[in-house]
Amino acid sequence: MKQRITPAQLQQLSPEQQDKLRTWWSIHQQQGDVFICLGNDFLSGKVFAWDGHNKPFKLAVPLLSVGQCIELLDPKEEAIFTMMKYIASEPQIYEVNVGGTEYYGDSMCDCLWQAVKEVALHIETKEEKVNKAREERLSYIRHCEKCFKVFSLKDYDFSGGLKCPHCGSEF
Ligand SMILES: [Zn+2]
Repeated sequence: MKQRITPAQLQQLSPEQQDKLRTWWSIHQQQGDVFICLGNDFLSGKVFAWDGHNKPFKLAVPLLSVGQCIELLDPKEEAIFTMMKYIASEPQIYEVNVGGTEYYGDSMCDCLWQAVKEVALHIETKEEKVNKAREERLSYIRHCEKCFKVFSLKDYDFSGGLKCPHCGSEF
């Protein structure tokens, strides 16, 4: 069974994604974790195991194990994804389903890695950030049925019930 991703798979990550992975690993490091260096010096491409004491090199990135992939996808161990294997297919295909989206691979490790890249190591584009902010704003906006003016529920004081700040109508 393929236990961990390969250095070539790490190279599929953008520099921003590598940084995101490094940040995650700096908090979740465990003795024995396997990592490589992606820098340009003599250490580049060499595989190491973390001794649990010394700080790994600055440009170290973990060669994620199946367990680490699962931890990235499901940090609270809520079993929030499902995995299945298409046994009739040749070669065999694995599928991970995270929140209704499917990711595929030739092994458990590879399909988990697909999901990790696109879910846990996803870098929001500018457009996605703008859309998210807009959706959040819209979710706070209410329309008064009496005076038809709009008001925001953000920072709204609900202690006296919901009242239109323009005309005072209660809802
Ligand atoms: Zn009103």
